[in-house]
Amino acid sequence: MIEPAAPLPAARALPPAPPARDTRPGVAGLAEAEVAALVQELGEPPFRSRQVADAAWRSTAGDWDEVTTLARPLRATLAERLRFDTVAATTIRVADGGATEKALHRLSDSRLVESVLMHYPGGAGRRERTTLCISSQAGCAVGCPFCATGELGFDRDLEVAEIVDQARHARRRQAAAGRHLTNVVFMGMGEPLLNFDAVLDAAAALTDPERFGLGARHITISTSGVVPGIERLARTRPQWTLAISLHAARDPLRDLLVPLNRRWPVADVVAAARAYGQETGRRVSYEYVMIEGINDTAADADAVVRLLRGSGAHVNCIPMNPVAHTPWRASTPARIAAFGERLRAGGLGVTVRRNRGQEVGAACGQLAAEQAGEPPAPMVARRRELLVAASAIALRGERSPDPAPAGLGTSERPARAPALSGGRHALVARRRPAPAGGR
Ligand code: SAH
Ligand code: SF4
Repeated sequence: MIEPAAPLPAARALPPAPPARDTRPGVAGLAEAEVAALVQELGEPPFRSRQVADAAWRSTAGDWDEVTTLARPLRATLAERLRFDTVAATTIRVADGGATEKALHRLSDSRLVESVLMHYPGGAGRRERTTLCISSQAGCAVGCPFCATGELGFDRDLEVAEIVDQARHARRRQAAAGRHLTNVVFMGMGEPLLNFDAVLDAAAALTDPERFGLGARHITISTSGVVPGIERLARTRPQWTLAISLHAARDPLRDLLVPLNRRWPVADVVAAARAYGQETGRRVSYEYVMIEGINDTAADADAVVRLLRGSGAHVNCIPMNPVAHTPWRASTPARIAAFGERLRAGGLGVTVRRNRGQEVGAACGQLAAEQAGEPPAPMVARRRELLVAASAIALRGERSPDPAPAGLGTSERPARAPALSGGRHALVARRRPAPAGGR
């Protein structure tokens, strides 16, 4: 008898294939009319739509099994058609004495995305608020080198329900703590305007009084500068707050720090943001991650003033959180203060944020990156070398020789290959969070 051949060691070393994605839509991704249509199709009376919506949006239930207002057979039928929750599992890490909760959500195909909940107590004329930072994509194609998500590369867009369910989870946790969620910011993993339709549908669900019920002004959409997306957003005439991730006012440096600048240069981004402000009457804010010796000089501050003067813009200066592998460190508090002062003297509104990574999207991507594991040392060393070389070119004022990252069109979809992986600088380490259970 011939013994079956033993599997090759290399084959054994391969991680198991991630489970197939659950194709049932999530209930949180459906509009009222879609729920009504399903209820009708199932031959149920129309008032059941309200019961389904109440279960999804008002109850503390975490699954169809817990929706006791519906008869058991109907719950079973609904479960065959719709997922009550698109998040398969969540792990929470608490920081700042309970004021911050970082959640790592595992989706049906084992992709990992993060949300961060931040509680700000009221007092001294300020209202208490609780802000949730949510993800719009698993990974990101833009590939900003200082960003943990950018270093992971792009994986896939999130569905509407996968976006909204991050907020439903947070609301359930908040309710248990006797708190209310007041604000949602799209500053987690991913570039929201590259998943435009799903993000807008999710924002609509979050602000619909019949569904999640937040005020539109309490939703902030942050973008690294997808110009067609900003223009489209303005055409919807919403009240969303728009935040632009600026990080550099001059093209050569922004080509490096925010690689989509090679496709949509900073002047075009700011022009689109100004138009958004004029159309909507909303003040646009600009995020500026401060990196010592790279983008924090007086000349940088003056360039920001020249770019934004007269637009009523507000700039948030944020020390870089060292979550990605770079040769850089955060600007010192003294340099950040001096930079902020120069912006103020130039007539801009300025907030200097504390060095709490969790205050911004910086924290998003960090847990997923931890799960992906430390990339091999030679890869990290090479990445740092490339960044040193690329920043020297940028600081000489030369534009990047690399093409824009692939997949930045609002209609074309990025392939699985992340940005910059094939470019001369090859900054994306191509680490992926290992499928859960395969670690
Ligand atoms: N992709 C969008 C939204 C998600 S990133 C965008 O870039 O705007 C949200 C914010 O977190 C951005 O302003 C981003 O530049 C910032 N950020 C990312 N990594 C950071 C880090 N290491 N330190 C500080 N801020 C960071
Ligand atoms: Fe993507 Fe925003 Fe991170 Fe840049 S900062 S890589 S755009 S998530």
